[in-house]
Amino acid sequence: MSASEAGLAALAWAAGDTILLREVHDGRVWTARPGIVVEDRPDLLAVHIPLGTRWKVPVADRAEMLERRKNGWTLTDYQWRRGPMLWLMPPGEAHAVHLWWHGPEWRFGGWYINLQDPIRRTALGVDFLDQHLDVVIDPDYRWRWKDEDEFAAAIEIGLLTRQRAEAVRAEGERVIRRLEAREPPFCDGWEHRQPDPKWRVPELPRGWDDVR
Ligand code: MG
Repeated sequence: MSASEAGLAALAWAAGDTILLREVHDGRVWTARPGIVVEDRPDLLAVHIPLGTRWKVPVADRAEMLERRKNGWTLTDYQWRRGPMLWLMPPGEAHAVHLWWHGPEWRFGGWYINLQDPIRRTALGVDFLDQHLDVVIDPDYRWRWKDEDEFAAAIEIGLLTRQRAEAVRAEGERVIRRLEAREPPFCDGWEHRQPDPKWRVPELPRGWDDVR
């Protein structure tokens, strides 16, 4: 950790703060989302993403996504309409655990292990990059790998090395063992928590596109 990163890590965000959740690839913004801090602790950053949040994504359909990541992309606006989410990001670990709910009625839909680089704190929020492979977990704790085809294709076109890919899958297996043992965050009751009803849909903070 550099001195400036250590300085940023020492500054905790407060519940209700809007921060930037940004994916960066090759020094360029791949996606950018605003989120609302629920808790910022040394071992966990928890961020709420409300239904209706607007963010930035690459212009591409699913089939083109890897090609775009490899060869360049432009960003477009996107509005999240599936349901509220809570992202649990443990610093230093190569994954996030997402929880999601159905619509405004807050019926729990399950967890999602997003395999990604460990978060890096910036002045506005955190940077990371998705690593293609995911694990979907139902509310009854049944789980399955997701996007294995995309993961295999990403290795094939050289977006990640086989060695890196093995580490990504091993991280997934480690979190699955945690799930099966009902260890944190799967035993912490996050699925019963709802955000402060006063919180509004956040907007991307100014400077979201400034990568330095
Ligand atoms: Mg993913």
